[in-house]
Amino acid sequence: MLLMLSQHEQLRYSRQIMLKKIGENGQLALRDAKVLIVGMGGLGNPVSLYLAAAGVGTLFIADGDNVDITNLQRQILFTESDVGTNKADIGAEKLQQHNSDITVEVIDEMLDTELAHYYIEQVDVVIDCTDNIATRYLLNQVCVDKKTPLIVGAATGFDGQQLVVDPRDPESACYQCLFPASEKAPTNNCQTVGIVGPVLAIVAGMQSLQAIKLLTGNAIHINQLNMFDGLSNQWQQFSLKKQPDCPVCGDC
Ligand SMILES: [Zn+2]
Repeated sequence: MLLMLSQHEQLRYSRQIMLKKIGENGQLALRDAKVLIVGMGGLGNPVSLYLAAAGVGTLFIADGDNVDITNLQRQILFTESDVGTNKADIGAEKLQQHNSDITVEVIDEMLDTELAHYYIEQVDVVIDCTDNIATRYLLNQVCVDKKTPLIVGAATGFDGQQLVVDPRDPESACYQCLFPASEKAPTNNCQTVGIVGPVLAIVAGMQSLQAIKLLTGNAIHINQLNMFDGLSNQWQQFSLKKQPDCPVCGDC
């Protein structure tokens, strides 16, 4: 692995390298990073595009669904001619067109327990862009087991939420601490209640920003649930606490 940036990389990423909190070392860290993005829908599209553009060296993108005409209102990587094609497959093609320097690995199915273990132990961070609550609990469980940071995002209607779980920090609450029982976790999704596209961009932007900060060694905030209300334009932060009796991350 080259320990310095090429001239081409210096130029391509110059606008973020000039930031003191990123710099050349941060760019090298991004180049070395491996990120798993689960779900290539309304959140996974902009998250993967931002991370590809930022020069994250290896992206694993997972989705078992095909592009549907109803996706085009918000899943901005896809075009009319992509309808009927697997989202991870066609997504990878577009990301490589955008940045041919990076590696994009396609997982053309939704993760089950075995696949989650296999991929999560290979990556530096997992980004949850799924709207499937069972998959979200699975990612949380495996990330806690493997001590891999997890960036959760969700959006419906005009509302969004975002949370970082960092099991490397023993004080970090996990998703199950927040929603101990799946019945209480938000199960609405864009199929059942609808979604306005730009709310996904806002939440996905937050997820991408957290990933870039985390990978470049900048501080991230754990135990903080960020909720966005697209009607009042307000973000609100709620403090979380790790639950000692949590069946996933607790001591017992
Ligand atoms: Zn927990």
